[in-house]
Amino acid sequence: MAHQICLDCGMSLAETIQRCPKCDNDLNAQHDGSTITVDIAHHGERVSEALRKMQYEVDLARKGVSRRIRLVVGSGLIREEIMLALRDLEYRGEIKCFDLEIKNSGAVLISLK
Ligand SMILES: [Zn+2]
Repeated sequence: MAHQICLDCGMSLAETIQRCPKCDNDLNAQHDGSTITVDIAHHGERVSEALRKMQYEVDLARKGVSRRIRLVVGSGLIREEIMLALRDLEYRGEIKCFDLEIKNSGAVLISLK
């Protein structure tokens, strides 16, 4: 059975538990402040492949403890399509918010928690 660790008190819990029974922390909101960087646009990906990669990374990261994902999307069609898809995820509450990186418009920062 998969386990998670409460970042506040260190208790080991089943992955299905939402709230730590020891310290009452909301486990889904916990993060370690880290950012995962994933390049989804520079290996000759088609738009559909890039979208699939993005969804995979978001799903994976939501189960983990990172705070943000930094998606490298390039400057073309992939970026446009990713921005549309992220708007949808934001609307559905799967991500908190997202924006193009200030100094590098070829990357999107997604806040998960
Ligand atoms: Zn705890």
